Amino acid sequence: MEQLDFKLPDFTRISWVGETTRTVWQPRIERVRVAWHALEWLSVLAGIRTCAVSVLSPEQLMTEAGEWAKHGLSVLPVAMQGVSQYTYANKPVQPEAGQPFSFRCVLGLPQDVSRFKEAWDADDHRAIGKLLGYPECCTEFFYEVWVTHRMMDTTWPMAGGLHTAATNGHCLQAIGYVEANILWRWAGVRAAPHLPCSFQCEATRSLGQQLIALGREAGYAAEMDWLLEALSWPVEWSALHGIAEIKTPLFKISTNTDATSEKYVVQWPGSAYPAEGAAGVCFPYRPYAHPRPPHTDTLRQEPASMSTWYAQDNGFPSRAVMDEAHHPLVALARVTLAGQGGAVLDLGCGNAVLLSKLYADNAALIPFGVDNVAAHIAHAREVLPDFAANLVEDDLFAADMLWPPDRRYALVILMPGRFLEVDAARAASLKARLQQHVERILVYAYGDWLTRYGNLQGLAQAAGLTLGDSDAAAPAALAYFPSP
Ligand SMILES: [Zn+2]
Repeated sequence: MEQLDFKLPDFTRISWVGETTRTVWQPRIERVRVAWHALEWLSVLAGIRTCAVSVLSPEQLMTEAGEWAKHGLSVLPVAMQGVSQYTYANKPVQPEAGQPFSFRCVLGLPQDVSRFKEAWDADDHRAIGKLLGYPECCTEFFYEVWVTHRMMDTTWPMAGGLHTAATNGHCLQAIGYVEANILWRWAGVRAAPHLPCSFQCEATRSLGQQLIALGREAGYAAEMDWLLEALSWPVEWSALHGIAEIKTPLFKISTNTDATSEKYVVQWPGSAYPAEGAAGVCFPYRPYAHPRPPHTDTLRQEPASMSTWYAQDNGFPSRAVMDEAHHPLVALARVTLAGQGGAVLDLGCGNAVLLSKLYADNAALIPFGVDNVAAHIAHAREVLPDFAANLVEDDLFAADMLWPPDRRYALVILMPGRFLEVDAARAASLKARLQQHVERILVYAYGDWLTRYGNLQGLAQAAGLTLGDSDAAAPAALAYFPSP
């Protein structure tokens, strides 16, 4: 990232997309913020982390310290700072004489508070991070970004920007866990107390899950649902000339960021969209509401008659594990197709649950699938009854009926390992078909295949494919056949 040498003063502005949206969601967002504030100290009480840091006005300190003392927690101011009018400040505001101020306070058991104070005075970022329960990977990452690279906004680095060659348009896809989606922090909507090292940080995910479970126990179930819902929607962060814009379906945030002469973009594809969200033609807005056939909504619940085979046909022990594995594929397909229709083919479709998810998400798609297990295809025709004729029982390297001369597929989904199970002639014939009939190839892999080849990139390479602009370790990616 090429940085310019100026910094704008701290500011954060939120513009709602419309009054209806605001009426529904502003009170919810406010309740999520209140719940999060409570979770900061409840997580210390629950032993999820040792200490927490809170910014409090002198009045809040008076009232909250009394409440915490009842639970055996002590509180110690470690710094004074000016009062920011914003929910999230990129850096603490300097206090000014005669102006209102707040205390940055640490709270915890008395001996832990004193250990924190020592670490604070010694500027020991590792010890501070550890006491606050931040994952080590994230503490190291934060230090690298703030101190080594002197950046104040971690968004581009956490999407992999520091170690990715600058590509056309400087646009990165953020694919990962909702708990690590920190792109709403300026609105106070977050599932982790720290700045995660990446959207795929496992430690952040686990901490976020603990905090959300605690929130539910503490009586904030609705708030936790709204929080997770918001974090599952598409959002775009972009930065240019020191100003960041964060576009969500509810509002646009403008804030200051590191100054650059070129535009940098990070897109979180999301897996859902709010009914009250803005409509628009560009990401992250949903272009228009597709009229949905009545049966697609029922697909989202697993029908009782399908329960035994719904996940097992596809090689998963449970619906939850399957949904987790499908999530990045569905998200990537959504971004790739950007609401456009067309034929989509799953080569090795199992019982077509993945296809049904893509279709439920975008009713302009026409699903096709092939699988060599008769029972899978029989089930697939129950899952997608309107497209029964497009679901073929055959070897995916044969299946001639899927490749009529004038057929174009907007997207084909493929596990690259399939190429390594057949002889060169059959691999070459499928490759020729893909090159002739397919606009984009989405590859993925699970379990053993990844272990054997290190990651998706290694597996794709072995199969003769090159991954597009994506993280080598991503669970799903677009791929192409390099020209000889
Ligand atoms: Zn991390």
